[in-house]
Amino acid sequence: MSTRSSFSRRSLLGLAGGLFGLSQTRLLSNSPAAQTAPTGDGSFSFAHLTDIHVTPKLRAPEGLRLCVQAVNALPQSTAFVLTGGDLIMDALDEEASYVRDQWACFDEAMKALRLPAHHTIGNHDIGGWSHKALIGKNAPEYGKSYFAEKYGKGSTYRSFDHGGWHFIILDSVALDESSGDYYGWIDDAQLEWLKSDLARTGKQTPIIVSTHIPFVSVWGQLNADPRRGEGPKGLINNGHLVRKVLGSFNVKLVLCGHGHVSERIELSHYNKTTFIQGGAVCGMWWKGKVAGNPEGFGVVTCRQDGTFSYEYRDYGWVA
Ligand SMILES: [Zn+2]
Repeated sequence: MSTRSSFSRRSLLGLAGGLFGLSQTRLLSNSPAAQTAPTGDGSFSFAHLTDIHVTPKLRAPEGLRLCVQAVNALPQSTAFVLTGGDLIMDALDEEASYVRDQWACFDEAMKALRLPAHHTIGNHDIGGWSHKALIGKNAPEYGKSYFAEKYGKGSTYRSFDHGGWHFIILDSVALDESSGDYYGWIDDAQLEWLKSDLARTGKQTPIIVSTHIPFVSVWGQLNADPRRGEGPKGLINNGHLVRKVLGSFNVKLVLCGHGHVSERIELSHYNKTTFIQGGAVCGMWWKGKVAGNPEGFGVVTCRQDGTFSYEYRDYGWVA
């Protein structure tokens, strides 16, 4: 049995809902961090907020404020927020002034967050990487530098440790110079960094990876011709090579966003890594649920024995 056929036969899948075709750091908030504490058994939790897509329009600031309130109300063992990318509605196709307005909305809503936040970059957080771009290549809002400087501690990929677990934040977005559009890709420099980061971490430490664009997703297959693959924007095109690098390490969980669906894929033979796509804070871009999947965020609990649990929470937004 080839690895690939083994994958398809033995994969376990749970799918809570979603919408076909919706492809599309440690930063401390300004407010004082809440007092967080691990539980008596040393476990801790964090909130995974992906596809926020905040904008001054569509009552989105009000929605994000409600989401932040729900995160602030999580138990004291909640240590931090990990965002999954697409923090703002769009920087790919919009003018620089509107992009700044969106970031201002994000900053304003996140001021109320009482936990530290680590941010993952998404395609919509990148200025002007589109054939329809309105941002010039010399503008400060162009490309990834705005995100890196303000939300990524100077980079779009990095790692950190918490409570005996190692967290790796990847940058899954690259530019196709010929089309002018983005696609899913982990570049060579990042792969080299990843190899050395993993070598430093060692093979025992439990690892959680955050990426915006998924390594795997079956949502398209479930909702259309099953032979249809995702396009270059839908998945990390060299994900198989990245997984090879991750494969011999203790990667428990890969969190992603991008498709606005809640999807869980477990490959029983592949180092027991679970792949979870974490729905969307904005649902269908602040216009309602995605095929029944509510606006929400994930809560991941990490235990000292290297196991975790995941729960998707509806924070009560009504579009
Ligand atoms: Zn995206």
